Amino acid sequence: MAQSGASRGRGILAALRRLVPSPEAPRPPRHLVRGLRTCTAAGRTLQCPPLPGAGSLPWRPYSTQSAQSLEEESLHNIITDSEKLKGSLSKHEFQAETKQLLDIVARSLYSEKEVFIRELISNGSDALEKLRHRLVSSGNPQGPLEIHLQTDVDKRTLTVQDTGLGMTREELIQNLGTIAHSGSKAFLQALQGQAEAGSSIIGQFGVGFYSAFMVADRVEVFTQAAEPSSPAHHWVSDGSGMFEVTEALDVTPGTKIVIHLKEDCKEFANEDRVKEVVTKYSNFVSFPIYLNGRRLNTLQALWMMDPKEISEWQHEEFYRYVAKAYDKPRYVLQYRADAPLNIRSIFYVPDTKPSMFDVSREMGSSVALYSRKVLILTKASDILPKWLRFLRGVVDSEDIPLNLSRELLQESALIRKLREVLQQRVIKFLLEQGKKDPEKFLKFYDDYGLFVREGIVTATDQNVKEEIGKLLRFESSALPAGEVSSLAEYGSRMKAGSRNIYYLCAPTRQLALHSPYFEAMKQKEMEVLFCYDQFDELTLLHLREFDKKKMISVETGIVVDHYKEEKYEDSKAATERLSDAEAEGLVAWMRNGLGERVANIKLTPRLDTHPAMVTVLEMGAARHFLRTQQLAGSSEERAQVLQPTLEINSSHVLIKKLNELRDGDPELACLLLDQIYDNAMIAAGLNDDPRPMIGRLNQLLSRALECS
Ligand code: ADP
Ligand code: MG
Repeated sequence: MAQSGASRGRGILAALRRLVPSPEAPRPPRHLVRGLRTCTAAGRTLQCPPLPGAGSLPWRPYSTQSAQSLEEESLHNIITDSEKLKGSLSKHEFQAETKQLLDIVARSLYSEKEVFIRELISNGSDALEKLRHRLVSSGNPQGPLEIHLQTDVDKRTLTVQDTGLGMTREELIQNLGTIAHSGSKAFLQALQGQAEAGSSIIGQFGVGFYSAFMVADRVEVFTQAAEPSSPAHHWVSDGSGMFEVTEALDVTPGTKIVIHLKEDCKEFANEDRVKEVVTKYSNFVSFPIYLNGRRLNTLQALWMMDPKEISEWQHEEFYRYVAKAYDKPRYVLQYRADAPLNIRSIFYVPDTKPSMFDVSREMGSSVALYSRKVLILTKASDILPKWLRFLRGVVDSEDIPLNLSRELLQESALIRKLREVLQQRVIKFLLEQGKKDPEKFLKFYDDYGLFVREGIVTATDQNVKEEIGKLLRFESSALPAGEVSSLAEYGSRMKAGSRNIYYLCAPTRQLALHSPYFEAMKQKEMEVLFCYDQFDELTLLHLREFDKKKMISVETGIVVDHYKEEKYEDSKAATERLSDAEAEGLVAWMRNGLGERVANIKLTPRLDTHPAMVTVLEMGAARHFLRTQQLAGSSEERAQVLQPTLEINSSHVLIKKLNELRDGDPELACLLLDQIYDNAMIAAGLNDDPRPMIGRLNQLLSRALECS
């Protein structure tokens, strides 16, 4: 029987709830789930790469299980309480600096305490990695390489155990009794005497093992080194300055850390809370992580894999996971480098058009920063220039220490270098796409062109501006409607000796073709790029030059000078034009009539069907100024800022008529002059409000009808 809409809806909702483990961790992509060894897509069978330490246990993806089958699942837990202590204990004092660090850790941390789990898992993963390396190089078979976590609400403990390399007695004392690396030392120095300021810093710095004392009033370590004859040991400390070491028996090879949680940190004895933290930071750790017997990390770090081994649908699923999106990526760029920086990265351009929200400059980058598969920041806004914030994905770099604060991230030379390298690579990729599939690229340009323009406007380096400028596309007077050209292509069509790239900003091709400015260029058979986007004008003003050619708006006065240089020849017969004397008289009369509304009036041979046009030195800038300054006021006031030149076409019928009327009918001549001027200002986009001229137009119409 067919389901009713409502009950079907509930069914879907219920199914969705089962599929989504927690709001922090979206549904793990099914195809990324380890354990699916072969997968079929589009008729092809694809092998997933071998998984390190996957063990021999049957593992089923939790994402596709019903609640019931989870109950039935056989749990895999290696954590026991079998250890016994043997012989007498020895007491040790922490190294002086470590003591200070512990003090700061214990006293001043309130936020992001959860990262201690990431740190302990990372240490476990390191120990497993070291063991695997040793096993592989000695040719021994691999044992299970795993990390286990166990929560115990009653005892208020969290246990983290790995089957890694373990530590000998000396290593235990050395590694856990002194600050191992200089990063922490620098951190300590930076924090000297200002413990309060450090309250939010440790979570970001990460001080490895010691971060456990943020949440613990006692930490116990059981460890059995991989050396066959080495005895196991127990280490315990309350973090107050002393630690004790005792020999131990029945310790599983590897290291087990028992965190006795402080009363106010008992949340970390809660399974759901721990699961949330592990999936946030450690979802891509190579070794299987179990929490209370259930496998947690189910995702493959796609960015570490050989691009050839990743199928399209794996990318799709991974994209949906990292972007928290439901669409597909339209472009995928997997970029790996070892010099100048170690980079493993994947970038996606979403298939959907960016929303107003995405466009906002308030939005930072959505690319996550990892170091060796461990999350540093979910939204690392500084690893890409702002204009590339539409990209989704992951950047992993071994060169970035885990213990990097947000502040350092912003300033670090390393991050600056990373940003440069990534920007270059992304631009190169987009250029390649433009060549490979121009149609698809144009769609991208339509949807994401605003970001490209922003990149040009905001870049501080001219080379970068020009690099991004290579992505620009415009229609051109030399190409049929609908076809576009890059700036480089324009360059390749340029006549020998030309030094400029000409463009005209107009809302449509139709308006561009009929603009007086284009008319002037057409006569010279100069190619003009048509810019329809409202931000093109600003973008090209900022670009200024491309490949040593000047970007010149055909509306600017500079063009006029350029023509002067080229000794423009008037093609029209002298009889069609006003004589020199008539023209001189007319210009003087017009100057008088227009007063402060113009800075200059001159004759131009460049127009054909238009009686006049206005030029200002920087038309784009002038228009932008008018738009942003909301310059109201009279046309005289506006003219004082703009300093417009009125260029007139002395062979045009209206201009010739004007010359007759100035003596014959001065009143009508004045109306006509004002209208010619206003029309030219409108054509230039410098007069947005034509309402004040309606009265005059009506007067002119009445006169026209009387005459007829
Ligand atoms: P880091 O990991 O940056 O070296 P930590 O404070 O996290 O600093 O750890 C200090 C040292 O303790 C590690 O370098 C390692 O030698 C040792 N260690 C910590 N946890 C483990 C573990 N689970 N197994 C083996 N050795 C460990
Ligand atoms: Mg560590």
